[in-house]
Amino acid sequence: MTIFTKITNREIPADIVYEDDLCLAFRDVNPQAPTHVLLIPKKPLVSLDSFAEEDSALAAHLLLKVPKIAADLGLSNGYRTVINTGEEGGQTVFHLHIHILGGRNLDWPPG
Ligand code: 5GP
Repeated sequence: MTIFTKITNREIPADIVYEDDLCLAFRDVNPQAPTHVLLIPKKPLVSLDSFAEEDSALAAHLLLKVPKIAADLGLSNGYRTVINTGEEGGQTVFHLHIHILGGRNLDWPPG
């Protein structure tokens, strides 16, 4: 079980900003921007590579929540979404998550 499942189960605390039956969004413990939230499916998918056809509705649900959560967080000037996948992709927690970052001008390309 990853730390994100423990957050979903309320076994460890997190600053939760959105929740519904399928997903949870909470503030990153080590924020890389003034606003840095992680949106996760409650289903413990390892990474983007774990998505199967049966997850189509869940994938759409997650993506459609991003602009709503960003708006709720006041990111009216824009924001960035990031999904790190696998070791070379920079993934460190192996429970699929979408980073939502904003509140400053973000550089491109990433490191
Ligand atoms: P990744 O590198 O896998 O794309 O992102 C994992 C993110 O999870 C990192 O930005 C890291 O700061 C965050 N993180 C790791 N452990 C915890 C935790 O226990 N609580 C919260 N809120 N964020 C965490």
